[in-house]
Amino acid sequence: MSFKYSLLIIEDEPVSRELLKSVFANYSFRIYTASNGMNALRIIKDYSPDMALLDLGLPDIDGLRLLRKIRTFTDMPIIVVSARTDEKDKVAALDLGADDYMTKPIGTAELIARVKNVIRHSASLRSRSADYFRKGDMIIDYKRQRVTIEGNDVRLTRNEYSIVELLAKNAGKVITYDYIIKSIWGTSTDGDNRILRVNMTNIRKKIEKDTANPEYIITETGRGYRMIL
Ligand code: CA
Repeated sequence: MSFKYSLLIIEDEPVSRELLKSVFANYSFRIYTASNGMNALRIIKDYSPDMALLDLGLPDIDGLRLLRKIRTFTDMPIIVVSARTDEKDKVAALDLGADDYMTKPIGTAELIARVKNVIRHSASLRSRSADYFRKGDMIIDYKRQRVTIEGNDVRLTRNEYSIVELLAKNAGKVITYDYIIKSIWGTSTDGDNRILRVNMTNIRKKIEKDTANPEYIITETGRGYRMIL
């Protein structure tokens, strides 16, 4: 995976959607697209994209209501991209937790600048470009692919390390079982998480002081795992 960030474009008009998509063609973004609110919610829950561009005029749900729904389970950065120029809509969006608000037509350079700004202000996204991840006594050195706790090397297998790195680079977000399995083993699971659970058990034995009360990696039952930020 050479994509540094992932971005969900929520926009029902195909032309606008393609236009927004093309803006990011030369940047290392993995792009997801949703043409309605239902799809957007599914993609956010399944893939935890790093951030979203949200059009307010959607066919199945008003963008502001969708924003409220999204905010009940994630604080992912969201930039509203709307044709609505009414100050009230802008204030409402920001009140509901939008990180920024842009009015159509969108200038390419401005959009990129705003996205970069959102990344700079997000602690979890900023940590992505760091060389290491530190939480409590644990340090993950991405360059050397080494994990230490209180300065002592933790001996992880290659797959165990890859899982820990994936979670650390997405710290604070729930990463689904499916997403982890696809990223590490490259296969689909058909709902079988056994191989991941076995790896996670081993990881916890190696990094957690008390595996029943983990201080680094939390299980979000039925969904996936989350590295505490
Ligand atoms: Ca629209």
